[in-house]
Amino acid sequence: MIINGKTRTVALIGNPVEHSFSPFMHNYGFKTNDLNMIYINHTVKKVSLKEGIQGIKALNYLGANITYPYKTEVIQYLDEISKEARLIGAVNTIKNENGNLIGYNTDGLGFIFGLNQEGVKIKRKTICILGAGGAARSIVISLCLKFNCKVVICNRDIKKAEEISYIVNNSDRDFLGRVVGVIDPNELHLKNVDILINCTPIGMGEFKEIIPFESKLKFNKRMIVCDLIYNPYETKFLNLAKRRGCITYNGLNMLIGQGILAFKIWTNKKINFSEVREEIKNIIQN
Ligand code: NAP
Repeated sequence: MIINGKTRTVALIGNPVEHSFSPFMHNYGFKTNDLNMIYINHTVKKVSLKEGIQGIKALNYLGANITYPYKTEVIQYLDEISKEARLIGAVNTIKNENGNLIGYNTDGLGFIFGLNQEGVKIKRKTICILGAGGAARSIVISLCLKFNCKVVICNRDIKKAEEISYIVNNSDRDFLGRVVGVIDPNELHLKNVDILINCTPIGMGEFKEIIPFESKLKFNKRMIVCDLIYNPYETKFLNLAKRRGCITYNGLNMLIGQGILAFKIWTNKKINFSEVREEIKNIIQN
């Protein structure tokens, strides 16, 4: 890639950002699409977030990704936000349109994009979500905005699950799907579940050896089981589901899906899903 006077910049803003795969993915996309653009990381401290976001305008960046811990806080510094991002209450992608900063959320849609790439259909499915944090919220809201599906949210802190349920079930006309259950982990039962998604961090880091709500997991063979975690590449949760005969997917599909959708917002171009997944899989596994 040749950087010259016409090169446009896209930034990742968060703290920490060193371990992100986004620079790899987007620079790969710029290269394969022959675009004169570059993607770089910016570690931004909380006190400097406003200036950091204003910098996108001031320096005429093409846009940015926003990551932990600023996805919600950033909203106050934007000029407009998409319906999806407003309902989720978080932004992970910003486009600078002639000095107008527009916020989007591609996390939940990216998860759906990843499932679609695997040929999984969501319409009329019963989907059980473990967890009710930021990732669960974006997935439930995007699923219910786009599809006629039934969602059950299982979380320790019931109030967080109820908040998501309230957004979906009390916004007239916006949503095609419904949250049909909010349950405590002790009440978890999977009898009628078609798709089960782990949106908790259990399975990575200090929780690497643990399976979420293990005593309640009665997998059945026709169930599709997903984990948002991709490092380890196969969590104990996914391994158990696979041994019970379920089809399983790790969090790499979501990571790539959200990136591909952000890339499209900035450039209107595509990144090849399987090619970039293979590249990132190799980095994770080596
Ligand atoms: P978050 O906002 O902190 O939410 C974490 C959720 O997990 C909460 O609902 C919390 O329950 C639950 N939880 C945490 N520790 C638990 C424990 N020991 N036992 C039971 N429940 C527990 O986190 P997030 O941003 O939603 O991220 C969740 C996971 O998704 C992380 O592993 C993250 O790396 C992954 N993720 C992956 C992608 C991707 O692209 N693949 C994108 C985003 C996130 P309480 O509410 O009861 O505390």
